[in-house]
Amino acid sequence: MAVLLSEHGCTCCRGLLYRAATRSALRDPLTDTGNRVAMDQTLQREIDMARRHLQPLSLLRLDIDHFKQINDNHGHTVGDTVLKAVAASIKNQLRNVDMVFRFGGEEFLILLSNTGRDAASMVGERLRQAAQAQDYWADETRIALTVSLGCSTLLAGESAESLLRRADNALYVAKREGRNRLAMAG
Ligand code: GH3
Ligand code: MG
Ligand code: MG
Repeated sequence: MAVLLSEHGCTCCRGLLYRAATRSALRDPLTDTGNRVAMDQTLQREIDMARRHLQPLSLLRLDIDHFKQINDNHGHTVGDTVLKAVAASIKNQLRNVDMVFRFGGEEFLILLSNTGRDAASMVGERLRQAAQAQDYWADETRIALTVSLGCSTLLAGESAESLLRRADNALYVAKREGRNRLAMAG
């Protein structure tokens, strides 16, 4: 497709190529979620918008529990397939798939615009249940999988770094208290 377009080379096709390149620079190819660069851009934009429109904004950090064990027991390729399936399960639950980002190896970040603490908590719990309910298979073996989540809601005058940090602290609490749970930032 890309070769055909570039050989053709009219302005319209060059525009398409450019947009495809820009889009791929902002996507994680494995999970088809936004990458870190996209996340940085979107987070700041959403904070600015929330402030301008006096609307709430919440952030969820979702991390697969004991993912290393899945790699160790079933291999990296199965691990990759599981990552894709978890990303798909998150996207299935959300209205706006453009606000899902792969933040690290097996951690996803979900931005919830115009969403306050209580609604974000419901979304987080729904994501947790959906990830757990989905089937993951390695050959004939069903893999049990859970996720933990941390949630923060933007405070007056808060920076992107602080919002991220508070969600990360909450995620840490969720892990420490036994995993397969959602913890809300204080
Ligand atoms: P915890 O419940 O505390 O989150 O434990 P964990 O095992 O999920 O976390 P840990 O940080 O110890 O391990 C994360 C693992 O994720 C280690 C790394 O090899 C794996 N990983 C990171 N990126 C990828 C990837 O793209 N594909 C695969 N298959 N594995 C990955
Ligand atoms: Mg993990
Ligand atoms: Mg992790």
